Amino acid sequence: MRRHRRARIVATLGPSTSSAEEIRSLFLSGVDVFRLNFSHGSHSEHSQRYKIIRELEKNLDRPIGILMDLQGPKLRIGEINGDKTNVLAGDPFTLDLKNIPGDEHRAPLPHPELFSSLSLGDEILIDDGRIILKVKENGSGYVNTQVIVGGTIYSHKGVNLPNTDLKLKALTKKDREDLEFGLCLGLDWVALSFVQRPDDLIELKNIVGDKARIMAKLEKPSALKNIEEIINLSDGIMVARGDLGVELAPEEVPAIQKRIIRKSRRAGKPVVVATQMLESMINNPAPTRAEASDVATGVYDGADALMLSAETAIGDFPSESVQIMDRIIECVEDDTAYKEITKNQLNSPEATTADAITAAARQVADTIGAAAITTYTTSGSTAVRAARERPKVPILVLTPSLATARALSIVWGIHCVHTEDAKSFKQMVEKASIHALTEGYAKRNDQIVITAGVPFGTPGATNVLRIETVI
Ligand code: PGA
Ligand code: MN
Repeated sequence: MRRHRRARIVATLGPSTSSAEEIRSLFLSGVDVFRLNFSHGSHSEHSQRYKIIRELEKNLDRPIGILMDLQGPKLRIGEINGDKTNVLAGDPFTLDLKNIPGDEHRAPLPHPELFSSLSLGDEILIDDGRIILKVKENGSGYVNTQVIVGGTIYSHKGVNLPNTDLKLKALTKKDREDLEFGLCLGLDWVALSFVQRPDDLIELKNIVGDKARIMAKLEKPSALKNIEEIINLSDGIMVARGDLGVELAPEEVPAIQKRIIRKSRRAGKPVVVATQMLESMINNPAPTRAEASDVATGVYDGADALMLSAETAIGDFPSESVQIMDRIIECVEDDTAYKEITKNQLNSPEATTADAITAAARQVADTIGAAAITTYTTSGSTAVRAARERPKVPILVLTPSLATARALSIVWGIHCVHTEDAKSFKQMVEKASIHALTEGYAKRNDQIVITAGVPFGTPGATNVLRIETVI
């Protein structure tokens, strides 16, 4: 069972998609990686979904990636008396630490650490920027503000501070508990929300170790200042356009999406474009043309994967959303302009043997019209470098590590097979041919390009490039 597109699909599970049938239907519609969003749902709900995915993986004999998304230091207003209150532009409004439900004059903001981060003139956005306050006076445990844009403030709505450098830890107590739970389950990727500094990733990496790959969600303007270092410290990157689009003006998001993708691609790190891709499909069986165009743009930009959030988690048409996304991606990848753009986006190889071999593999495969590139890898790093080359032909990855096979399912153009390592040159050739045939990547007499590391079984030693005819 193979996908006929190169860009990957990540889908968020939620109340709409929790049963074995629903999850299976999502996978058969085209999902490569499932996202468990720890901003919502209980541990028992997540572990049920986890078990269903692993069961499906076993039944279909295809490695499936699972990404846990940590809430991070998401700020929220506390409780409001009667659940809502109205504020008018020009009015004063106070945020404080009092454990008393809010009213039209004040509301609790139960995050003691952030008051010292706020400065005069900072903007406080409530409910995805629907309400805007400006800091007028900054006291101990409270701020007095003026309402710039008024409206209704509801209990527990999200708060964004776009101009404030928050002296907050990247991992909250909840994140640490979730992380411990997720790592015990055996998740493949851990995404961290509201990354601000390189240190945030170091802190995460120290806990995760080699139990999973780490992904930085870029959704704070402060992260963009440190973007190169953050990319270097991460195994993958997410353009989290939901919060990014609240913290920045909407007109800034498209250029930043392109910049993040370009930089991630140059570093050879898989990059995911997320949020509102097919938003109207939460309630409708077909997307708007603008949404179709947005999905296509992500693919033209060179993203490894595109993500569905509410569409699949709480929407009425989860499988339809995946099917539409799948079709849009295939259509773009068939376009000659896409092939041109991909060629022009190519980054030169770095001075490593893995890059030398994978760049040569792409060139050889293109020159002789090979059916596929077959890459042996244990850690997955050679496979990721091979994908960075964006070859025209599919990359068939053979790995003895199930964890690697699962994690690579988020990477552009890779089809992974979990199989024992080759023990000899002869076996290397035979195994590559057999898997290319049985996975539907080559016919008899097709040529394939094989990369591997000799001596066999030594990780990180890719040094062989071989052209072989499938017999
Ligand atoms: P979220 O992250 O859905 O966890 O907020 C994605 C985003 O902000 O775009
Ligand atoms: Mn977010």
